[in-house]
Amino acid sequence: MSRLGFLYGTVHANKTERAKFLKNRFLKYKFPVLLMAPVITHQDDISSYDYLIGKEENIFLTIKRQFSDLKLLIIDDAHLLSEVQIDQLLQVAITLNIAVLCFGLRTDFRTSGFLGARRLLELSQVVEKIPTFCSCGMEAIFSVRKVFGKTTFSGEKIAKEKDITYEALCPNCYYRKLIQYKKLKESGRL
Ligand SMILES: [Zn+2]
Repeated sequence: MSRLGFLYGTVHANKTERAKFLKNRFLKYKFPVLLMAPVITHQDDISSYDYLIGKEENIFLTIKRQFSDLKLLIIDDAHLLSEVQIDQLLQVAITLNIAVLCFGLRTDFRTSGFLGARRLLELSQVVEKIPTFCSCGMEAIFSVRKVFGKTTFSGEKIAKEKDITYEALCPNCYYRKLIQYKKLKESGRL
């Protein structure tokens, strides 16, 4: 039996770069490894992914039928997978003896957990936080959304538009911005 692991961090934690680095490192030693991402990945450049996982796809069956000689499966943006798919990843680790390492966000821009991330936190044998820092110097915990450079706490949970950016914030800065936002909204200036 192999293990399921979850490395989580805020935006700008270089999760994708770490996933690619890890894959290349293992490839160098001719270790059978693949890097995958959900088809709804946040990344613009999908050229480095070996496979994109469909929204309803049974990952366990895909791996069993097409990639059973793998030793390591790395998944980027794993928080965007469904809870059922995370359960399937655990089955990949247990039944197929393939180590699965997932990278992703823990929470969305309103501090609410992604379903895939929540399930990963429940099931993974190895859970590690990738540290990032807020502009004030404190450790960042949350990711806040900006539209046209302005902080917002409204909108869809998952959005991928070119005017949307994200910033990593510590709890103190996050809640300061949330209070400012609520005041502006109440005064009708937003
Ligand atoms: Zn801060």
